[in-house]
Amino acid sequence: MDQALTPSPSFPSRLPKVGTTVFTVMSALAAKHQAINLGQGFPDFPCNRELIAAVNTAMLADHNQYPPMVGVAELRYGISEKIASLYRHHYNPESEITITAGGTQGIMTAILSCVGPGDEVIIIEPAYDSYRPSIELAGGKTIAVSLTANRDEQGHVQSYSIPWDALSNAVNVKTRLIIINTPHNPTGMVWQAADLDRLAKLANDTNALILSDEVYEHMIYDGRQHQSISSHPGLAARSFLISSFGKTYHVTGWKVGYVAAPAALTTEFRKVHQFNVFTVNTPMQYGLANYLQEAAHYLELPSFYQQKRDYFRAGLEGTKFKLLPTPGTYFQCVDYTNLNIPQAQLNEADFCTWLTTEVGVAAIPISAFYNEPVQSGVIRFCFAKKEQTLSNALTRLQQI
Ligand code: GLN
Repeated sequence: MDQALTPSPSFPSRLPKVGTTVFTVMSALAAKHQAINLGQGFPDFPCNRELIAAVNTAMLADHNQYPPMVGVAELRYGISEKIASLYRHHYNPESEITITAGGTQGIMTAILSCVGPGDEVIIIEPAYDSYRPSIELAGGKTIAVSLTANRDEQGHVQSYSIPWDALSNAVNVKTRLIIINTPHNPTGMVWQAADLDRLAKLANDTNALILSDEVYEHMIYDGRQHQSISSHPGLAARSFLISSFGKTYHVTGWKVGYVAAPAALTTEFRKVHQFNVFTVNTPMQYGLANYLQEAAHYLELPSFYQQKRDYFRAGLEGTKFKLLPTPGTYFQCVDYTNLNIPQAQLNEADFCTWLTTEVGVAAIPISAFYNEPVQSGVIRFCFAKKEQTLSNALTRLQQI
């Protein structure tokens, strides 16, 4: 029988509403139109050669077979020390830290390990696009509350803040997990110490766990301190902390991250992890363990990225794009609805398509971070780029 004529059996989609992630779509569109890609978040500059040398050394030393399921010990011990020195919380590297294939796998595995049918998971939109599908695959119900958009008299979004009333209304006996993200993708908003106190009060007397996505922990500006969930003793006891070496060391393609959580949570996490990825590539873990010992490699990141942020913002200052504050992350959000062109009326997705294909600069629509079509007239640029790349993009954006 002709193979082409044999239909595959049909089956109900597990994720009927999900298409291809916006980051992949926009990167493909940027490549097709040779646009400068300020869409998907990744650096266009190389990582430190010392890190590559450390991985090479590990490979040549024959660290090429399966590592321990939970990750290479040297790396877990290094992470434990790093968290203790930065956030004053000790995670036992044997029972409380697991190496993952990037932040996204850590997030899905954490969700699969604790969320089941009937459980509610609270997310705060705009939210990273993997949260909701991961909850759905676990059989859980997503309860989305929206960040409060603070607007000026003309209705332009000026900044975002945490929607405490909506959050406290959303928490109930069915709440299994609350997902937070600081510094926040895409808005750049960061949580303050008082916010963690408030979250702790809200979670008190409930059985809710917390997943804190902190992959941008080292991209925080103007002298602010990252407020890790691990720095709050009450919250650390009920939280999965997610971070990623891809963001910190400019190696997003390596896909290595980690999850730190109290032993009881980690036990359940590892039950899923071992059948999800089993282990993460060995030489990268040895290389990272070596490189992690030098604290300067991550301590210099705020000033390194702050300079890029300020350069990019200064270049947009004279345009009709309205800049939102960027206290953290490597993303700059702008409101485009004030531009003196007909395209200023387009929805965010269409505006980003136009910007990519006609202006030659790719960006990400904030609407992609919401389940319902929300139009705030805000788009996201990634400034983790060489100065030359930013300069070329600015030249194009200044001509609109
Ligand atoms: N976290 C990155 C971003 O927001 C993208 C990750 C991905 O492409 N899955 O741009």
